[in-house]
Amino acid sequence: MKTTVSTIEGSRQQLFIGGEFVAPKGGNYIRSYNPTTGEPWYEFAEADADDVAIAVAAASAAFRNPNWRRMTQTDRGALLRRLAELVRANADALAEIETRDNGKLLKETRAQMRAMPDSYHYFAGMADKLQGDTIPINRLDTLNINLREPLGVVGMITPWNSPLMLLTGTLAPCLAIGNTVVIKPSEHATASTLALAELIQEAGFPAGVVNVVTGTGQSAGEALTRHAGVAKYVFTGSTATGRRIAGNAAQNLVPCSMELGGKSPHVVFGDVDIEHAVNGVVSGVFAAAGQTCVAGSRCFVEASVYDRFIDALISRTQRIRVGLPTAEDTDVGPLALADQLSKVAAYVASGVKEGAKVAVGGGRPQKADLAPGGWYFEPTVMVDAQNDMAFMLDELFGPVVGVMAFRDEAEMIELANDTRYGLASGIWTKDIDRALRFANRIEAGTVWVNTYRSASFMSANGGFKESGYGRRGGFEVMHEFSRLKNVIIDYSGAMQDPFVIRLK
Ligand code: NDP
Repeated sequence: MKTTVSTIEGSRQQLFIGGEFVAPKGGNYIRSYNPTTGEPWYEFAEADADDVAIAVAAASAAFRNPNWRRMTQTDRGALLRRLAELVRANADALAEIETRDNGKLLKETRAQMRAMPDSYHYFAGMADKLQGDTIPINRLDTLNINLREPLGVVGMITPWNSPLMLLTGTLAPCLAIGNTVVIKPSEHATASTLALAELIQEAGFPAGVVNVVTGTGQSAGEALTRHAGVAKYVFTGSTATGRRIAGNAAQNLVPCSMELGGKSPHVVFGDVDIEHAVNGVVSGVFAAAGQTCVAGSRCFVEASVYDRFIDALISRTQRIRVGLPTAEDTDVGPLALADQLSKVAAYVASGVKEGAKVAVGGGRPQKADLAPGGWYFEPTVMVDAQNDMAFMLDELFGPVVGVMAFRDEAEMIELANDTRYGLASGIWTKDIDRALRFANRIEAGTVWVNTYRSASFMSANGGFKESGYGRRGGFEVMHEFSRLKNVIIDYSGAMQDPFVIRLK
């Protein structure tokens, strides 16, 4: 890979269509900003509806091209393995690019990029394992089979918080099955996806199998989700945008897989080691500056240990080191975009107006080593929170947790489920019966017991309620990106008289 942070700095990045990096038809470019300074650092192509149409046509042609369509499963798997090794060889460079673009901690993006090859290998291993089945149907001399086949062109709209890791979980299985793809990364973090495109080219995927159209959601995103040539959409982002995309897709009767927002409950019972639970809550909500869809942003604590827990949570939060995302000793970096900073600040202010109290944090950190234009926000604990306060209802995507007490298990489950979201949940308890009752009653796609944010591409996950539908990961995802075709074969050699109906 030739691309690095220094080759991107000050450059103009192009679209990746039909196996080549090409200029946008309209000749327009958009500035990308560095979250640690708020200053522009490169420009990327602004795709319009024409560019999107060219990309979908390239993906459609690649889908029908025998080079890809008739490639054996083993060879598709081998291509993915080659890509896995290229990602491995360039993991640290990819991490530096993504961190510069979205401000996520370098140690975290590095861990994500170094783990990504395993994910590509895992799905490469599935390329030759997707199979249909044979179903007896009460007819003699008849073979009834279900074939599994790829869908066609898949449109992927990815967010800015972990662009490559979130892309991998759907791109790898999609390619393993033999689909082709048009990716629209977020305008706030496009660079790492374009760097990956370079690796896809280097790995030797046939031209047009993967295409990247950069630009805005309003223009490139809308054009992609209205295009009649797309067979499925994969979206990760806000519930509002997900709703809009699903509406567009419905016009063409195209299915979607949606990973949307969350307002996940994190429950603490008094029977656990409070320090452990505090560490779990802190990492569950402040990691990645709270910009994760699974952030445990509503914390419910058993009343008997509430004061003790709050003291420990405040003291631990005060020790969090906010700093440059590239520094090894930083715990929390900046937010990825200026809008996020004002959104988070506004929600904290509205929470205070509604009666919650800021126990720690609540504003922009004043530190000499941080550029004043950087988009930093202090890790913030809000006590005396209520489920009906705006900051407890909506996804903030920032380092803010609202804490409230509960009396008993019945009240806790009611409070935890009192949200329109249902992505993740966590419980800290030593009582296994209680943990299992929670797992059974919580309305969320993921349940963590005595841990949080522990995830693997080897198991399927996704949301309930307004957190979306469709599953990523595990073998389950292979069914998301393939379809069944039913084939009935009569091998009797004798066609019945067409007008004789045999009654029972
Ligand atoms: P969006 O949901 O608007 O953006 C996510 C992706 O959708 C981006 O690629 C965006 O492109 C694209 N997009 C936006 N509008 C359209 C459209 N009309 N048609 C097609 N694609 C579109 O999130 P924001 O970046 O505005 O962030 C707002 C909030 O969303 C956050 O505060 C957070 O609560 C939530 N969010 C949740 C994520 C998750 O992981 N579940 C990830 C990101 C955000 P572009 O960026 O170029 O506009």
